[in-house]
Amino acid sequence: MWQSLSKNAKIIIVTMTIFVGIILFSMFRDSSEMIDKRKAMNIINNQKIEKAFIAKPYLYIYTKEKTYKVPKEAVDLDKLFDKTIVEYKDDSSDDIDILMLIFMVGFTLYIISMIKENQRRENQFIDEQREEASNALSVQNILPQISRVNFSDVAGIEDVKEELEEIIDFLKNPDKYINFNVRLPKGVLLVGPPGVGKTLIAKAVAGEANVPFFYQSAASFVQIYVGMGAKRVSELFNRAKQMAPSIIFIDEIDAVGKSRGGFSNDERDATLNQLLTEMDGFEESSGVMVIAATNKIDVLDEALLRAGRFDRRVHISLPDFKERVCTLKLYLKDKNNSVDIDRVAQMTIGFNTAALETLVNEAALYALRKNKTIIENSDIEAVKDKVLLGKHKIQSFDEEEKKIQALYQSAKAVTASWLEIDYEKIGILSSNFIPKNSEILSKTALENELKVLLAGRVATQQAYGELFTNAKEDIKKAKILSQQIIEEFAMADEYFSSSVHIETLLHDATLEVKSLLSKLDIAVSRVRDYLLENETITPKETKKILDEIF
Ligand code: ADP
Repeated sequence: MWQSLSKNAKIIIVTMTIFVGIILFSMFRDSSEMIDKRKAMNIINNQKIEKAFIAKPYLYIYTKEKTYKVPKEAVDLDKLFDKTIVEYKDDSSDDIDILMLIFMVGFTLYIISMIKENQRRENQFIDEQREEASNALSVQNILPQISRVNFSDVAGIEDVKEELEEIIDFLKNPDKYINFNVRLPKGVLLVGPPGVGKTLIAKAVAGEANVPFFYQSAASFVQIYVGMGAKRVSELFNRAKQMAPSIIFIDEIDAVGKSRGGFSNDERDATLNQLLTEMDGFEESSGVMVIAATNKIDVLDEALLRAGRFDRRVHISLPDFKERVCTLKLYLKDKNNSVDIDRVAQMTIGFNTAALETLVNEAALYALRKNKTIIENSDIEAVKDKVLLGKHKIQSFDEEEKKIQALYQSAKAVTASWLEIDYEKIGILSSNFIPKNSEILSKTALENELKVLLAGRVATQQAYGELFTNAKEDIKKAKILSQQIIEEFAMADEYFSSSVHIETLLHDATLEVKSLLSKLDIAVSRVRDYLLENETITPKETKKILDEIF
């Protein structure tokens, strides 16, 4: 039981025991013999007294042999005065009380200071432990990995690989670039949905360049002790610089890099500021390449996207048909199978690469359970739904939905190409327009962007006489953009405008898109067919189709 008590409780118990002991001792320390009136008078009369004093409620009588005490009222004090010297110490007990009080106060203060000291030591101990733990954590996390992943392990995303070739070359031969005085980006931002291989490709860059790879999830920056995020960022950069050329990979950078507008979070802000400082602080020639991944570029703080930071962006979309074929081939390569890869690729629209890997693995397990020696299409079909349910957010379109979506995206691709707006690739599943980096944009440029956002909705409405929910994201963007045009940039005739102006702008843009699309309808249906077959289209291919018609 004693062990289970806290240190403070132990101190209190020990000191209280000592305290009580002292009081008891002082009470019983009085060794004088209590005598009655008769005996006292006898001693007094016999002149045996050496000294006497009164300490209420007793009269103490000292003789050569012994000390006696008698209640003071019992003695005739006058008589005593005649016979001996009496020290009248009637108030001496008050002195003792005061002394006792001082002693007690002092003692209490002493105990309090002991407890405080003890607490201080305990806190110091906790702080030390905490420091130790966080050091252990950070040291553990800032150990680089040696990547054995190569580009051959990454299926599809050929365009992404191409874009990163230069970075690999830079990491391999930094001197070549430094001597030529070329500035390479310090940071590359990989933008795309989960499970498409953002981490894998960063590892492959490290593997190809044969440089150390520092992995850091941005979410973990802010999850540890308060104040640690910023410290870890600087530790991470220090280690990477020591081991340069090297790669720092920051996963889910939006966890710290979210735009600071609205709610503020001190911890996250401090971490983000440290990250910005570090990125500004090192030279391009230091040989550290920062690769970050996010699936939400639109929520990122603008400071991160500014020149000299993550100014190179690479979009990775969900794998299209051809990419799914490549991925399935890669995963089935070493497995005994008779799978019709094209067919499986067709039925897995919306799957990300990670889900395709799971699909092949589950099918192999399924075949094994059935005691088969070869994986067949039926095994894939048998586990497909399970994989679909297990993974989040897999958009799986049926044939009719695919047609609607192909038309929708085709109208956007054709409009964008016609209006000479750049985009990376437009597909049934997504469209990535390259965000404009120009500082000054014209009203016409903004209105053209607005038209692209409305084109899909207009085209499907014309073809089906119906509105569909797939326009949701583009409508949201169109509303924001039109609001900016009218309110922020005051591009209507009035400076102070109302929602009527925004509505008019959207209405007029819709009418213009209608007339534009009626002119481009052949191109739209060709691109739609192309999309149904290939799922994605590049600006170059769209231009080619347009050039064939016009
Ligand atoms: P992200 O970082 O985009 O969320 P990951 O790189 O973590 O995706 O991918 C998860 C897993 O899916 C990887 O470990 C890998 O096995 C598989 N994978 C994803 N993309 C690819 C790809 N392009 N080629 C091969 N495997 C991939």
